[in-house]
Amino acid sequence: MTLEDYLRQTALPKNEARLLAQAATGYTRAQLLTCDREPLPPDTAAALVALEQRRLNGEPVAYILGEREFYGRPFAVSPATLIPRPETEHLVEAALTHLPPDGRAWDIGTGSGIIAVTLACERPDAHITATDISPAALAVAEQNAAAHRARIRFACGSWFDALPADLQTSFHLIVSNPPYIEKNDPHLQQGDLRFEPPTALTDFSDGLSCIRILAQGAPARLADGGRLMVEHGYDQGAAAREIFAAADLNNIETLPDLAGHERVTMGQKAV
Ligand code: GLN
Repeated sequence: MTLEDYLRQTALPKNEARLLAQAATGYTRAQLLTCDREPLPPDTAAALVALEQRRLNGEPVAYILGEREFYGRPFAVSPATLIPRPETEHLVEAALTHLPPDGRAWDIGTGSGIIAVTLACERPDAHITATDISPAALAVAEQNAAAHRARIRFACGSWFDALPADLQTSFHLIVSNPPYIEKNDPHLQQGDLRFEPPTALTDFSDGLSCIRILAQGAPARLADGGRLMVEHGYDQGAAAREIFAAADLNNIETLPDLAGHERVTMGQKAV
């Protein structure tokens, strides 16, 4: 079998088949094109068919490869972490806009660390803290920080309890992509979500409980004028703004994602 044969007969979408072929052969994208008529060594062909079978069984490509790109950088992912989504890049863009020079930012529920590591890479002057309740997720985040030489303070724990009280002050930014899917949302039973850690996806409640925890707790941990930024579901913008207002945050606004859905709500601590 050649790569050309494989790509012609596979039941997978071609972009997915190419990614799996790259993993099985160790080829770059360019080599994949130039070597597509050479017969594959039998063990490489067998490895490729095994990867294909995992994908046909529903396993996400990101978990099969152990990697997903975010904001132009490769990130290690494992079934202990959510798979990075392009929507989260809007949260990162907003954070980069509002992080002052030498600013302090706290990424709560960092998962694979995509937000914290990207901020640290884009802004080496910043002081970044990243926390998560899951030690397994935190290990992946630490691996990503090391791979990208990002200087980050990590700690394990639930929401604001992850840091000792004396470190919980004067943040210019608190950012989070919390679990925001409602417990009975049928999407949890579909596609990649079936394989992702449930605790990273849903609050097992109305989808807003983590956003409430973040909004209620943020003002005490923010510097004057500091901002809370939270990613949420496409239909949670109005509810998020209400929760932020009830927590006395000011200048509340919601940013859309590329599909035009309300995706990131932010609010500022009164000066
Ligand atoms: N912060 C990580 C991400 O954006 C993890 C978020 C989560 O697990 N809910 O992918």
